[in-house]
Amino acid sequence: MAVPKKKVTSSRRGMRNSHRRLKQRSIKRCIRCHRHLEPHHRCFCGDSLKVLKTQ
Ligand SMILES: [Zn+2]
Repeated sequence: MAVPKKKVTSSRRGMRNSHRRLKQRSIKRCIRCHRHLEPHHRCFCGDSLKVLKTQ
């Protein structure tokens, strides 16, 4: 069985894990009520429908 030769120090572990951070999620906001929305999702207030129709 493969056994690590030396202890990985906390700083070295941190340097390795610096690459696996959380990705920044893209956040949209409703035009009318300014609520946070997932991308390609419609808001519950229904005003986004009216905005789409006017375009
Ligand atoms: Zn809304």
